[in-house]
Amino acid sequence: MYERERLELVDKLSEKGIADIFVLKAIGEVERHLFVPKAMKHHAYKDIALPIGYGQTISQPYTVAFMTQVLKLKPNVKVLEIGTGSGYQAAILYNMGADVYSIERQFEIYSATRKLFDQLGIRVNTKCGDGTIGWDEFAPYDGIIVTAGSPNIPPSLKKQLAIGGRLVIPVGNKDSQTLNIVRKTEEDEFEIQAVPEFSFVPLIGREGWNQK
Ligand code: SAM
Repeated sequence: MYERERLELVDKLSEKGIADIFVLKAIGEVERHLFVPKAMKHHAYKDIALPIGYGQTISQPYTVAFMTQVLKLKPNVKVLEIGTGSGYQAAILYNMGADVYSIERQFEIYSATRKLFDQLGIRVNTKCGDGTIGWDEFAPYDGIIVTAGSPNIPPSLKKQLAIGGRLVIPVGNKDSQTLNIVRKTEEDEFEIQAVPEFSFVPLIGREGWNQK
């Protein structure tokens, strides 16, 4: 279903500058319409963010592709995602062969997406909790992707990143953020590149925004 729409989306993302063939292949294979509410299915292959309920969104496909591309993933790496949401980003990472750990703070979203992963046979490790403090038990991660906007880069996530690994996180105020691409060069040494201009829902937690 929706094969032609998916291929058109791949073409659009490629025209917009996504060049990683593994990312484009994943976008062409993962069925985004399964990750959006029923009423939104006919919009699933438009390059737009869509509401998924509880005031949250499934990110725009370009944003998913761009964030995945900048992680520069090698085969069989371990990736931590903060903000499972609909599960689409995690499914893209899983499709690319990553060992995925994903944390969602809202219980209703966490349980609906866990059920979806089980139905679709997507073997992603999930947990309901505050992702700003990471998931220490399985650290270090070769890649960390934060899909909500933060006032800063949570120190726990920097700590749980492997040397040589990359962390991608939107940093800014609640309306707009720059995407920070952080590469850990040594323990406690980081190179940061910032790309304007993105807009994510807030990252709420101990090392993010206060809940208010
Ligand atoms: N990656 C998602 C996808 O593919 O649909 C997009 C997620 S949405 C833009 C951001 C998600 O981050 C929301 O579901 C929100 O509840 C979650 N979130 C916000 N703060 C969080 C935190 N501290 N830990 C875990 N999840 C968080």
